[in-house]
Amino acid sequence: MDSSRSEIAYKSVYAYVSLGSNMGNRREYLTSAMHEIARYDEIEVVAASSLYETSPVGGPLGQGPYLNAVALLRTRLEPVKLLEVCQRIEVSNGRQRDVRWGPRTLDIDILTWGQISLSTDALTIPHPRMYDRLFVLEPLLELGFIDGAGLDEERANQRFCELRADPSQKVAIVQDRRWWFRETPV
Ligand code: ATP
Ligand code: CA
Ligand code: CA
Repeated sequence: MDSSRSEIAYKSVYAYVSLGSNMGNRREYLTSAMHEIARYDEIEVVAASSLYETSPVGGPLGQGPYLNAVALLRTRLEPVKLLEVCQRIEVSNGRQRDVRWGPRTLDIDILTWGQISLSTDALTIPHPRMYDRLFVLEPLLELGFIDGAGLDEERANQRFCELRADPSQKVAIVQDRRWWFRETPV
């Protein structure tokens, strides 16, 4: 194993993920996803944004609004392993893969993984559309910029200002950062 690979395998990094739901009990799917993420030994939830409601952008017409949030994680999982975890949690929360950009109970995307850039058939990091989506940028900016978390701060600020002026991308806070706290662990 070369040194860069062993560094990837053992060092923990910051990673931002976005979560979204626009089907069924949206808040419950997102809450359950956060708790499932937090249960992994290799993942620490550093912070989660407030909960936002947004109109669907793109995809088939007639979809309901999304609840969205962004979480900052610290993880020892390599990018592909983190993607597997995200997809496992999507499936355990009823996600079915049918229509691209169609309605879904749960969508978890990896936005950044450390400072890494990669692109394979299965995974592109940073997420290629993250700077085009106010429902990603607004919660990201709420959490703030962390050194080593792979965000292009200048680009994020500039795109945030541009997208905020776009009436099709409305984003509203519906609950503060405690939205996923539960009184008793399940
Ligand atoms: P979008 O990527 O535009 O947000 P989506 O989330 O609706 O669309 P999905 O159907 O959830 O798209 O995922 C399609 C595929 O995208 C996944 O099977 C996964 O392999 C791939 N993918 C590539 N890069 C990423 C990433 N950074 N995070 C999550 N999935 C990714
Ligand atoms: Ca997505
Ligand atoms: Ca996805």
